[in-house]
Amino acid sequence: MITIRDVHKRFGEHDVLTGIDLDIPHAATVTVIGPSGSGKSTLLRVIDVLEHADKGTIDFGDGPVDLATRDKATIRDIRSRIGFVFQNYNLFANKTALQNVTEPLIYAQGKSRKEAETIGREQLDRVGLADFADRYPSTLSGGQQQRVGIARAIAAKPELLLLDEPTSALDPEMVGGVLEVIRQLASDGMTMLMVTHEMRFAREASDHVVFFEHGSIVEQGSASDIFDHPSQPRTAEFLQSFA
Ligand code: ATP
Ligand code: MG
Repeated sequence: MITIRDVHKRFGEHDVLTGIDLDIPHAATVTVIGPSGSGKSTLLRVIDVLEHADKGTIDFGDGPVDLATRDKATIRDIRSRIGFVFQNYNLFANKTALQNVTEPLIYAQGKSRKEAETIGREQLDRVGLADFADRYPSTLSGGQQQRVGIARAIAAKPELLLLDEPTSALDPEMVGGVLEVIRQLASDGMTMLMVTHEMRFAREASDHVVFFEHGSIVEQGSASDIFDHPSQPRTAEFLQSFA
């Protein structure tokens, strides 16, 4: 179990996260849903220390680590245990698909180029892009670019994979292939915390669903609890907007 405790984040006068507690069971997919501006991306960014929390901890099972830390070694340690899949892929435009996957293995993990390339090719194969290793991002479809983004995020075998609306920048016909890759990761036992607006996918693929509003958790439960029997009127109202 990965536990996140009492996470606070404020931007100026705006309390964006107001004391978030979250449990992410090993090998589970936990999905965060909620309105625009409710703090979902900020939560993921704070967990990966892309933003500093004002307060809060993450515990991968070997003791709580401070998410407000400024200590570079601690931040590196947290990041080395997490993979991040971005909405807009965040690939290096001047590097090939393979180089995008190997670069972090070489520079952050200290692997040899040869070892990194072996891993990189395995991971590209895993997302169905074995034949695209030498292609530059601009020559790939959005769905293919996102699959490179996923291969990069999982290459270092993270303990936790964070996905921030991994399909929302894609043309509709590209969404299915990316969701299929995520489904496959789930069945391979990846531990995931995902933000999505794909309610059908969330319902089908999540072990646990969290409804988020104004920087706090309104309610959480199984996909069936949240989608079929929401206990809070706000959750029902939010889900109605997708019906
Ligand atoms: P969406 O569904 O639109 O992606 P979200 O739930 O991911 O929304 P966040 O991006 O986490 O929302 O933003 C939450 C709030 O924090 C918003 O009001 C946003 O304007 C504010 N915010 C986010 N990042 C910053 C920042 N770096 N500086 C100032 N305010 C920020
Ligand atoms: Mg967001």
